[in-house]
Amino acid sequence: MIKFPPSLSLAHLPTPIENLKRFSADCGGVKLLVKRDDLTGASLTGNKIRKLEFFAKAALDTGCDTLITCGGIQSNHARATAIVAAKLGLDSYLVLRGESGLAEANLLLDKLVGANVRFISRQEYFYVNDIMRELSIGLAHQGHRAYVIAEGGSEPLGCFGYIKAVSEIKDQLDTMGQVIDYIVCPVGSGGTLAGLLLGVQLYNLKSKVIGINVCSTAKHHTKRVAAIIRQATCEFDLKVDFNSAQIDIIDGYVGDGYARSRIEELAFIRKAACTEGLILDPVYTGKAMYGLYNEIKKGRFSEQDNILFIHTGGIFGVFPQRLQDMWRQVF
Ligand SMILES: *Cc1c(COP(=O)(O)O)cnc(C)c1O
Repeated sequence: MIKFPPSLSLAHLPTPIENLKRFSADCGGVKLLVKRDDLTGASLTGNKIRKLEFFAKAALDTGCDTLITCGGIQSNHARATAIVAAKLGLDSYLVLRGESGLAEANLLLDKLVGANVRFISRQEYFYVNDIMRELSIGLAHQGHRAYVIAEGGSEPLGCFGYIKAVSEIKDQLDTMGQVIDYIVCPVGSGGTLAGLLLGVQLYNLKSKVIGINVCSTAKHHTKRVAAIIRQATCEFDLKVDFNSAQIDIIDGYVGDGYARSRIEELAFIRKAACTEGLILDPVYTGKAMYGLYNEIKKGRFSEQDNILFIHTGGIFGVFPQRLQDMWRQVF
């Protein structure tokens, strides 16, 4: 038995696993299924809620009245953190990379739930952990107690969100009588992949886990994921036999960079939307599934393979104003 740290129940679970029939047909035999973690909630949605169930509980248990986190200006993680804080009656501070401008999509929701937003430059963001620590110290001087959550919630405690998700997936597959050869997820800050890798080992699943990075390089993410897994293993005394050779990240689908879209990616998102009614986001799931689709077409997988793609959410990434011209080109 795996001993989980205490957590709150915030996500709507279990999320469904769906069969992408028409998409699979287009993929020449490979069976593609999707784990709908974009359905963990409406505004409080996506993969970060699974991690936040653990952070929020730790914050409450240590008497904190404030959550602090960071990310890009349209960070899904920051939005989810701000909403969790509001839901629990806590304050939130978000340190975001970018310039204050139009409050749209995720940033609009941040403001709506009363988050205190601080914008920093790309250069300053290198020191974001120091900036969050200083913020926390400043708040302590004012009599508050803040809980700092790392970028994307990708730190050891957050891994339990996806360790638990694996147990959920295992139960669902058993019920469905479905065997899965590969579990595929996008990689942004690495916590989801780290949790899945740990979960698959802890629950003895035969599935191989593959990540597709949406920023930086596979090499960078491999180091980071290995570090998170090592720390989690020590800190929580997890019984796994892990080495970094087990981390499989497919590079080549970052495209024009983090949160930058190419027409072919948006055209692919439209294709998924039209053929399956499945809305992917331009920053994470759109790029990762575009990558998976291309890898299938290139013959990386065999015809008998069953692949489970984790839809990690990100719906609000569809809406920013700057995408309007590009969307028009794919309609
Ligand atoms: C953060 C995020 C990811 C990446 O998850 P990590 O655990 O940071 O690697 C994927 N999809 C969406 C929608 C996200 O918000």
